[in-house]
Amino acid sequence: MPIPAQAAAIRSRRSRALTVALLLLSCACRDEAPHDVSRGSTRPVLLVGMDGLEREVVARLMDAGRMPTFRSLARRGVFGELAVTKPTLSPIVWTSIATGVGSRKHGILGFVHGAQQTRGERGEAPVLYTGNDRRVKAFWNILSDAGRRVHTIGWWLTYPAEPVNGVMVAQVNTITPAMRRAGQGVWKGRLVEGLTGQVHPPEREPSLLALLPRVEAETRGLMRTVFGEFPAHPPPVPAAMLEQSEWAFRADSLYHRVALDVAKNDAPFDLLAVYFGGADVVGHRFWRHAHPEAYRFGPDPSEQRLYGRVLEDYYAYLDAVLASLLDAVPADANVLIVSDHGMSPIRLTARFRKPALSGGHLTGPPAFFLAAGPDIRAPQTAEEYRCGASPRRVGSILDVTPTVLALLDVPVGRDMDGEPMTSVLSPKFLAEHPVRSVARHTETGWYESRPKPNVQDPGAPERVEQLRALGYLAE
Ligand SMILES: [Zn+2]
Repeated sequence: MPIPAQAAAIRSRRSRALTVALLLLSCACRDEAPHDVSRGSTRPVLLVGMDGLEREVVARLMDAGRMPTFRSLARRGVFGELAVTKPTLSPIVWTSIATGVGSRKHGILGFVHGAQQTRGERGEAPVLYTGNDRRVKAFWNILSDAGRRVHTIGWWLTYPAEPVNGVMVAQVNTITPAMRRAGQGVWKGRLVEGLTGQVHPPEREPSLLALLPRVEAETRGLMRTVFGEFPAHPPPVPAAMLEQSEWAFRADSLYHRVALDVAKNDAPFDLLAVYFGGADVVGHRFWRHAHPEAYRFGPDPSEQRLYGRVLEDYYAYLDAVLASLLDAVPADANVLIVSDHGMSPIRLTARFRKPALSGGHLTGPPAFFLAAGPDIRAPQTAEEYRCGASPRRVGSILDVTPTVLALLDVPVGRDMDGEPMTSVLSPKFLAEHPVRSVARHTETGWYESRPKPNVQDPGAPERVEQLRALGYLAE
C-alpha cells in the first residue's frame, strides 16, 4: 500500500490526467455546440498586462504546479512569445501595446521629455510624459468611439483619466505630503485623496478610493503570505531590495481589488484591461537569487535560502490573482495575458555588495503571451498541449490591440504597425467575424484638439529621482 505522500502524488497525477481529459472533452464539445454569436455581438475580453513576465519562468512554474491557472489556460489556448520593440522602456512599450503603433507614431519616447532625458541645459527638472502626450487613440478611445464598453485599470500613461465609455483608473505617480515627510517615494499605482483626474467617471472615484485603506492595511500581511516570514534580522541587502519593491506589491494589490470591484459593479463590459507591474520590479531585483548559476558571484547560501524563492513566489501570487479575475468575469470571456518584454540576467560578474539590479531587459528578451477562451484557437497537436513546449513566436507586442479589436469585431486601423494575430483566433470565429479594417481611427487633428487637463502630479519629483537612481535617466 502506498504511503500517504505517494498516494497523494498518485491522486494528483490522476486528477491532472482527469483535468486534461475534461479539458479535451470540453474543447471538443464547445466546437460542436451551435454558435450563437452574431456579428457585432462578441464575447467579453479580459486583457491582463504583466510587466516583465518571463515566459521561461512561467513555463517552469507551470510544470512544477505552481501556476495552475496559467497552466490550465495554456492547455486549452495559445502559449508563446511576442517580439518586442526597443527600447524596452515601460511607458513606450505599454503605449505601443495599447495603440498598435510604435513610438514614432504615438509620441511617447521615454519616461521624460527631452532627447537625452537629462537635466536641460539650464538645469531644469525633467518633465514626465503623461497620457496627454499620446498622439494617437488607444484601445480605450477606439472602443469607446465604437460604442463598446471598456474598463482600463492601472495602464501606463493613463493619467489624467480619459472620458471613456467605461471606467478608467489612471496610473498615477502619487505621494502624499505625509509620505513625502517620511521620505517615502512611490512611482505609480496609487489612488490618493484629493487628487483630480484619477478616475473616470468622477462619480465612481469615492467608491474606488474607499478600497485604498484596506489595501494599505493589508500590504504587509499580503507580503508575508506571498513570501513567507523572514528572520528579525535578515541580510540587509536583499531585505532592502524587498522593501524597495513594496510600492509595486501595493500597486498590484490595489489594481487587483479595483479590477474585481469593476468586474462586479460595472458589468457588462466588452473589454476589461488591467496592468500589474510587480513581476518586473521583483525580476529586476531578485533575478540573481532565482538564477544564481548565471552569475560569477551568486548570493551566499543563507541569503539564497531566504530570497531564492521571491521571484517564483511572486509569479505564483500573480497566478492566484489571475484565478480570481477569471472568477469575476463572465465564464465565456476570452482571456489574453501579455508582458511588454521578458527578463534576463545582467551584471554577470558584479559582486553585489549593495542593493543593485541583477535582472534587466534592455537587450529585448521576448514578451510573454497567453490566450484562451471560446474564440481562441485550441491546441492542435499533442505537443501543443504540453506546457512549456518550445517557444512559439505568435506575433509582436504591436499586434495586441489589433487582436483585441478583431475579437470584439471592431475594425482594425490600417495605419497601425501591428495586425491581428489571426493564428491565435479560432477558425470558426474568423469565419464568422472576418477581420475588418478602416484607414485610421485617429482623425487628423485629434491630438491637437483632444482635451488635455492640466495635471498636478504630486509624485513627479520623487519619480524622477527614482528613475535616476535606477539608471533610467542620466545623472
Ligand atoms: Zn523593467
